[in-house]
Amino acid sequence: MALLGAIEAGGTKFVCAVGTGPLDLRAMTRIPTTTPGATLGAVVDWFAAQQASQGALAAIGIGSFGPVDPRPQSDQFGYLLNTPKPHWSQVDLVGTLEQHFSVPIGFDTDVNAAALGEHRWGHGQGLDTLLYLTVGTGIGGGAVVNGDLLHGRLHPEMGHLLLPQDPIADPFPGCCPFHGNCLEGLASGVAIAQRWGQPADTLPPDHPAWALQADYLASALMTFTLVLSPQRILLGGGVMAQSALFPAIRQRLQAKLQGYGAIPQLLATEAGYIMPPKLGDRAGIIGALALAAQALARHG
Ligand code: ZN
Repeated sequence: MALLGAIEAGGTKFVCAVGTGPLDLRAMTRIPTTTPGATLGAVVDWFAAQQASQGALAAIGIGSFGPVDPRPQSDQFGYLLNTPKPHWSQVDLVGTLEQHFSVPIGFDTDVNAAALGEHRWGHGQGLDTLLYLTVGTGIGGGAVVNGDLLHGRLHPEMGHLLLPQDPIADPFPGCCPFHGNCLEGLASGVAIAQRWGQPADTLPPDHPAWALQADYLASALMTFTLVLSPQRILLGGGVMAQSALFPAIRQRLQAKLQGYGAIPQLLATEAGYIMPPKLGDRAGIIGALALAAQALARHG
């Protein structure tokens, strides 16, 4: 089994790991996201030390916060594009790693990486079309469509759907700096904390926050169901730790679809249509490992 490197590049930390799969992670570390020079320097040093002790890496995968350019044919492949994160716009993540490691490097968004990891090793195995949505501090989605990651013009930005909002039931204006009351603006962990004045993980299961949350997520999943026709939807991220959301979302999605077409019957008969990711809070780093495995298969 080839030894692979994985990087989950986030706005607060870079998680790095080496291993051959989810059951064989041999080392992992967390490096704070400060400046590109300091952070990427520490990442390179850590992988160099791992190679010295564990043997050569066959490929590296990077799942990154965005926006990024994940298109291999592009001049800017491997770059972070214009991000609000200070110092990190136009940073060449893949190029920096390539200067130190002569191996295939896979690169994509963090949520596309998580979708690929679930497709390879998790609850997406054997499926052609899979949606992964993370509902945490922010909201983002990645998709495997017909067996491959969905990119299109750049990559999907599923967290910014516009949703129906009842301004009497929920007068909160939303917290997205671009759109106000988009999906992320209404249903991210930040939105929940601002609307109710306390963090989502401190709200009890019978708090009205959760019925509203289930309704917004069901509206979003209705759109994803109708547009992508996924075989399964995986919902991860810190907000989904409130497990009562899952049955509430299924019920509200059924109600919103109003018996339309074949989809409601499919939902009623498949308990696994909407479920948590198998890889749990390791979906990001295992997803980066899956990007490495994919790069090795394509270019190794
Ligand atoms: Zn938005």
